[in-house]
Amino acid sequence: MTKPELTQRFLAEGLPRFRADQVYQWLHAKGAESFDEMTNLSKSLREALLQKYYIFGVTIEKKLVSAYDDTVKYLFRLDDGEYIESVLMHYHHGWTICISTQAGCRMGCAFCATGMGGLARNLRPSEMLSQITTAQRDNGIRISNIVLMGMGEPLDNYDNVMRFLELVSDVDGVGIGMRHISLSTCGIVSRIYELIERRPQFTLSVSLHAPNDALRSEMMPINRRWGVDELLEACRAYAEATHRRISFEYSLIKNKNDTDECARELAGKLKGMLCHVNLIPVNTVKGNGFERSSPGQIQRFIKILEDSGITATVRRTLGADINASCGQLRRKQKEGSDGTVQQDR
Ligand code: SAH
Ligand code: SF4
Repeated sequence: MTKPELTQRFLAEGLPRFRADQVYQWLHAKGAESFDEMTNLSKSLREALLQKYYIFGVTIEKKLVSAYDDTVKYLFRLDDGEYIESVLMHYHHGWTICISTQAGCRMGCAFCATGMGGLARNLRPSEMLSQITTAQRDNGIRISNIVLMGMGEPLDNYDNVMRFLELVSDVDGVGIGMRHISLSTCGIVSRIYELIERRPQFTLSVSLHAPNDALRSEMMPINRRWGVDELLEACRAYAEATHRRISFEYSLIKNKNDTDECARELAGKLKGMLCHVNLIPVNTVKGNGFERSSPGQIQRFIKILEDSGITATVRRTLGADINASCGQLRRKQKEGSDGTVQQDR
């Protein structure tokens, strides 16, 4: 609930306004996991809340800390036994968390470990918030940036994600401003137009990965619904309406989408747009056979884009030793080595 909603609920129950403030602070700013923790409430109020309400959060099932850098990967368990992943990364400007928006994903991208298992369910706004507050509490840190780039397609869980964005940016709650948030989508064009209406202040990242329909449809089924040109038209409209630079993600796969020809075609399509290209050496996921491009070819790809006036950077790899790219831990957790589904813990 937002603070006004919680206040209204408390007032309707005959509870004073300051009690709503206290509970809001416990839930949102402190990330309380139980009513028992709310020590400035009377015992009887805590019990009354427990009878009537439930806190949907996440609990740490596994935690992996990289030996190479400060990256921390969490496998979180949800109340119904589902699993999701989050990754905490340390940059010079502070801590960034990559959170999940769904348990699984139904978009079926060929290179993605999350997509392989299909969608289990959407996450609630509180389950998205809880990934942040749990990581903060566990490490005794304040997180400054959020990327919605973990498991799931945020625009396929549109209403809950919009509500999460409203809650997380509240200064009385987690308090991370929209300008410190990025949302990544595989390209649900109808939702991009809906977003434009909201004039969002967060950064929109679009997973492009290919410059033409033949290649993109092969890698990303969503492209059969909305093709590259339709997607880029929506991106242009977004950049024009919001004056915000769109970030295109492009995972480089050897001999597939990393050729000079692909780079030239991509440069032609993005020309004149307020954008930036984020190149990601593809993470090999068991069973898909995709290989990373060579460092030399990555440099050639960048040079072709830059020669056409398009800025591009290669994303730094963090936590390479802990399966930091999403979907892989959950998959391991759900399948035993023989491929059968494991019982709880
Ligand atoms: N569903 C959203 C956000 C989550 S995926 C989306 O698709 O944008 C986050 C990013 O990781 C996307 O750009 C996705 O294409 C990329 N990705 C998924 N699997 C990958 C892999 N094996 N190697 C490199 N990038 C991958
Ligand atoms: Fe879903 Fe994104 Fe993975 Fe595609 S890349 S299957 S949209 S999580």
